Amino acid sequence: MADGREWTADVETLTRSYGREIFARLEGSGPVPFAPSWWDERLMEWSMGNEAVKLQLFRFVDVLPMLHTPEAIVRHLREYFGEARERLPGWLRWGLRRLPSRGILGRLLAALAYRSAERLARKFIAGANLAEALEAVARLRQRSLAFTIDRLGEATITEQEAEQAQADYLELIHGLSRQVNRWKTNDLIDYAPLSLPKKNGEEDREVPRVNVSVKLSALYSQFDPIDPEGTSWAVRRRLRPILHAARERAAFVNIDMEQYAFKDLTLQIFREILEEPDFRDWPNVGIAIQAYLRDTAGDLEELAAWAQRRGTPVTVRLVKGAYWDYETIVAAQMGWPTPVWSQKWQTDANYERLTKFLIAQRRWLNPALASHNVRSLAHALALAHIHGLPPGAVEYQMLYGMAEPIKDALVALGQRVRVYTPYGQLLPGMAYLVRRLLENTANESFLRASFMEHVPEEQLLRNPLEVPAHSRENDYTALG
Ligand SMILES: Cc1cc2nc3c(=O)[nH]c(=O)nc-3n(C[C@H](O)[C@H](O)[C@H](O)COP(=O)(O)OP(=O)(O)OC[C@H]3O[C@@H](n4cnc5c(N)ncnc54)[C@H](O)[C@@H]3O)c2cc1C
Repeated sequence: MADGREWTADVETLTRSYGREIFARLEGSGPVPFAPSWWDERLMEWSMGNEAVKLQLFRFVDVLPMLHTPEAIVRHLREYFGEARERLPGWLRWGLRRLPSRGILGRLLAALAYRSAERLARKFIAGANLAEALEAVARLRQRSLAFTIDRLGEATITEQEAEQAQADYLELIHGLSRQVNRWKTNDLIDYAPLSLPKKNGEEDREVPRVNVSVKLSALYSQFDPIDPEGTSWAVRRRLRPILHAARERAAFVNIDMEQYAFKDLTLQIFREILEEPDFRDWPNVGIAIQAYLRDTAGDLEELAAWAQRRGTPVTVRLVKGAYWDYETIVAAQMGWPTPVWSQKWQTDANYERLTKFLIAQRRWLNPALASHNVRSLAHALALAHIHGLPPGAVEYQMLYGMAEPIKDALVALGQRVRVYTPYGQLLPGMAYLVRRLLENTANESFLRASFMEHVPEEQLLRNPLEVPAHSRENDYTALG
């Protein structure tokens, strides 16, 4: 093989070899999940050390955009952090009681709180409007990183909001295509080598430069699994023009996956619209699939069989899943069996199993592996290598503002890396921001273990299936 690795080496040996190589490329890059801002890092470290404080901090960030006066901001600061007062250092408890809510000091404090939250948001949110998002993706392209753009906003409550969401997606596709399709070609991200043996005269596949991530629940105010027919009809009505616009402008549309309650309906709508005559032979579509769900293996098998019946492949963005806490809490409250794996190693092991399935099924399901976990990524690189796939045949995806050196390391290995780039106002962005903060500060987060707790490489690269043998604890720090 060109990079000197043995064809015959087993997956585990190759995984560790790729993992060590990625880690070697990260050396000297410092504490990287976040930009190097001293205050933000201190804040993160401090809040991570204490669940009660972390919870109040995130609650405060969540509610902040709704607070319009200094009095309201200071009242919430007092109230929320007051609930965690036993955990606060003495000086802070003292200060909290004396926070000025009026006058110039009150206004200053409110502005400071707002600005800090905004700075935090800017790490994960690329811009407030299309122009800023465009600048952000242009900067990514200078680093040979591709993008998928996401319009921030959670549950759509009214039909007016759903209309607006559709208009925004259309504006994104038109606005971005006009600019981005004129940029100079970058072979690394604009072309993909074929992942199957070339037939005579076949050339590398052109990869759409404009890639948009769409949440189906944004397109209909009554998105409801109780009414699959009605919901599918209403969502497809708004999705159709988006897909038409994308197809006309050679753009790609990926459907995000949301909470478990929406999963089957999201898959159903995805399949139904892609069976329509206008889209049946269109390959530039994908869907996110979550490895933390117990039923995912079955879903993927069905999706592969369906894509084969359709006669045109689709892309699968394999993620671990962003709603673990939510799913666990909802299931416990309702007395339902939990749909997600309960231990981190199970999700990691399932991710590897599904990666294997996707790479084997690449004729019908193009693998796009989304993770910041070096072990998960290295395992995918190893499998692709064993299947004889050239770099670029499998796509890797990461989130904007996270794990920058890991992105650069994969680019240096000749891989195509796509960055999920959200844009939008702070208010609709808060739910997204809080999810990212929870993810980064969770005990089980790979980025936390790797960059903040400096867990040894060999431990981070361990096969997740080995974990139960060592310890029933699934916290990385307990594996030693
Ligand atoms: C490009 C991109 C697009 C994404 N799109 C989506 C999307 O459409 N829908 C979506 O839901 N998510 C999406 N995500 C987020 C993704 O699901 C993960 O939350 C995130 O990537 C963290 O996983 P990791 O492999 O990077 O990190 P790791 O630290 O290795 O894994 C963290 C993940 O492990 C899982 N986990 C944590 N604790 C436990 C536990 N006790 N038991 C079982 N599992 C646990 C959770 O899924 C958690 O997010 C996307 C991520 C990327 C990079």
